[in-house]
Amino acid sequence: MTIGDEVFVHNGLPTRVVFGFGTRARVGEETGRLGVKHPLVLSTFEQKQDAQSLAMQLGMEPAGIFSEAAMHTPVGVTEKALALVSKTKADGLIALGGGSTTGLGKAIALRTDLPQIVVPTTYAGSEMTNILGETSEGKKTTLRSPKVQPELVIYDVNLTLSLPKSLSATSGMNAIAHSVEALYAQDGNPLVSLMALEGIRALAEGLPVIADHPQDRGARAKALYGAWLCGAVLSSVGMALHHKLCHVLGGSFGLPHAETHTIVLPHVVSFNARAVGEKLAPIAEMLQSAGPGQGLFDLVKRIGGPMALKDIGMPADGLDKAAALATESPYYNPRQPTVQQIRALLEDAFVGRRPNL
Ligand code: NAD
Repeated sequence: MTIGDEVFVHNGLPTRVVFGFGTRARVGEETGRLGVKHPLVLSTFEQKQDAQSLAMQLGMEPAGIFSEAAMHTPVGVTEKALALVSKTKADGLIALGGGSTTGLGKAIALRTDLPQIVVPTTYAGSEMTNILGETSEGKKTTLRSPKVQPELVIYDVNLTLSLPKSLSATSGMNAIAHSVEALYAQDGNPLVSLMALEGIRALAEGLPVIADHPQDRGARAKALYGAWLCGAVLSSVGMALHHKLCHVLGGSFGLPHAETHTIVLPHVVSFNARAVGEKLAPIAEMLQSAGPGQGLFDLVKRIGGPMALKDIGMPADGLDKAAALATESPYYNPRQPTVQQIRALLEDAFVGRRPNL
């Protein structure tokens, strides 16, 4: 697209970002800038120690530590945390962790308007978005609201050095999926495409090195920088077929979030490349592959990610139902798929066949 040919709208989001090594030392000072004096620190049970050491170095009296964040943001956990917020009179939230902990902070902010500080430790990218997914009685609902957009994000590359190889691979591919769909989003624009390609490039360079040397500081920095950009584009534009399929597979078959994204993405990209080849060509080029779907498939293999839906709990007799559900109320997609085409795409993803473009 030549600049000026089409009118476009860009939604830039107002989050302040601090990025670097050792930036955890600045959390207290940066939190103080927001006027917060008594924050509640959030984490998962597994990251409780990191949350405790962060709380100790804040230079202010924390309201407490709540370390029960869980996958898919269960409303029951949020209610428990809300009780602690009101008992301790917390005036802000510091979420240290991945998408699950960030989700808990967002769910509390939605109900209290408390300012949020996020210290991300995975590549999920939730910290940059105004999106919240919550679960109640087994049902997942997703909303977009300015109330859940964090005020401040502090990326400390050091905190990602402990992220296990498998989670680095799947959470990194999950981030890449946001940027890939941003390239052909209905409401995309040149600025978003620029950030999306830079995000994919940074992750595609960082993840293979991390797979071999998880302590490589340069590769970790690249991956976290890429994750930031991929999260930012997710917030700015709508998603398409890939996210629809992952929503169906996660929601109706209970498949794990990041693993599902990792497996499905190359197949959707190969399918969409027949309609928007020029928008996806830079991916093939940066991955030095004949096609963008093939390049992403080979990247997943190279970094040791999961390759087939059959290996992560998808039942073979569920493919027909998944194809029907995915076409019932479709998202925008640059190439309108038939049920048969979706069924064939899912079959490829089920067995882990290399896509042909
Ligand atoms: P996660 O937050 O569930 O973390 C997985 C596990 O890894 C946890 O036990 C966590 O404590 C541990 N962990 C995290 N960082 C670590 C580190 N550096 N070292 C060691 N262990 C670490 O996983 P995730 O993939 O970051 O988040 C997935 C969730 O985020 C899903 O529920 C997904 O729906 C949500 N998500 C939301 C958005 C959004 O915009 N709302 C975007 C992406 C993902």
